[in-house]
Amino acid sequence: MRVVVLGAGFGGLELTTILSEQFGPDLELVLVDRAESFVFGFSKLDVMFGRTTAEAVTHRYDDIVKPGVRFSRGTVRAIDPVDKVVVTDREILRSDVLVIALGADLDPAATPGLLDGGCEFYSVAGAFRAVDVLREFDGGRVIVGVTSTPFKCPPAPSETALLMHDLLRRRGLLDRSQVSLVMPLPTPIPPSPDASRMLLTTFEERGIGWHPNTVVRAIDPERKVAVLADGEMPFDLFLGVPKHRAPDVLVESGLAVDGWVPVDYTLETQFPGVFAIGDCTSVGTPKAGVFAEGQACVAGERITALLRGEEPTATYDGHGICYLEVGDDSVAKVDVTFGQGEAPTGALEGPSTDLVTDKAEFGSSRIQRWFGHDWN
Ligand SMILES: Cc1cc2nc3c(=O)[nH]c(=O)nc-3n(C[C@H](O)[C@H](O)[C@H](O)COP(=O)(O)OP(=O)(O)OC[C@H]3O[C@@H](n4cnc5c(N)ncnc54)[C@H](O)[C@@H]3O)c2cc1C
Repeated sequence: MRVVVLGAGFGGLELTTILSEQFGPDLELVLVDRAESFVFGFSKLDVMFGRTTAEAVTHRYDDIVKPGVRFSRGTVRAIDPVDKVVVTDREILRSDVLVIALGADLDPAATPGLLDGGCEFYSVAGAFRAVDVLREFDGGRVIVGVTSTPFKCPPAPSETALLMHDLLRRRGLLDRSQVSLVMPLPTPIPPSPDASRMLLTTFEERGIGWHPNTVVRAIDPERKVAVLADGEMPFDLFLGVPKHRAPDVLVESGLAVDGWVPVDYTLETQFPGVFAIGDCTSVGTPKAGVFAEGQACVAGERITALLRGEEPTATYDGHGICYLEVGDDSVAKVDVTFGQGEAPTGALEGPSTDLVTDKAEFGSSRIQRWFGHDWN
């Protein structure tokens, strides 16, 4: 039997680990990704703000040694979801079970002026490039701006504004700077009123401008202004969250419908034997690694049952824990649940310096589990 997992991100790595643990060498598992290494979303911010180096947060897929698992580096060019056949630029892969975990692609070109006049920090390359931009920045008006919905990790723009404020304070540039946050959401973390209140208070205390319910539609690089749905904002530095979309191959294969791959809390697509998890789906949770991981657990249980000839029963509970950088060397933790058909809920813990250790442990435990070695 062969299971092919497309995408070695949060979801694909967790799912591959689960199936390898269950079946060992008795199952042929092929994990496909076009990249040569994995980087956590939160590590992008750590690198960007000079807290670590790009090298220290880059985890090479070639290091994965797990029973039954083969990593196949390549770009997925075509998927036949009926026959469960995948064509990459390196090989043709037939499968008994196919898992789509290709994440969300970023499209900075979709926002006029963003590539010329702004600095997108959501891709690995963009975040790593931003290090130099921030190093040379000597103060002024900074906008952290979201260009469309949905976008990955809804708390990340708030974290970016707070870490930017920290950086300006450390460099003594606060008195001639202003950080503003432009967000399409009504509150920073809608499922958690407590977390939102804590963030809004912190923004106010630190003088960070909060602009909810709007997006940046375009950047005018000549005039250095961000064009919002309801006006303009001048800037000296624009840190942008680009438009997200499903990878083209999912649209072309008919797997994506109305933008994303539709699945319910079984994570099964409309095609028998084809599962989809994480950011490439419209499952109903925010696009974040913790949710992709939780979905991988459920898909893993269901695939295990299928391969053993049993009836799958596991369903997703929509639960996840998000760590939130609030600056001042503190981290908060938000415990959120998006129950199917229910209003989401979210409880806040912290912020505190103890949670910095918790968050580091969260990352290093995943690297140990997925790659079989310590972080470093
Ligand atoms: C700045 C920032 C901070 C974040 N912080 C957090 C956080 O603190 N906590 C959290 O839970 N989430 C966080 N996230 C979100 C998190 O990174 C993503 O939501 C998560 O990685 C999604 O997992 P996934 O498995 O669905 O997709 P991904 O992890 O994006 O993996 C998809 C994989 O598919 C590959 N791929 C795509 N198309 C192709 C193709 N055609 N051929 C071959 N390979 C392909 C990609 O290379 C990628 O490796 C953050 C994101 C950002 C940008």
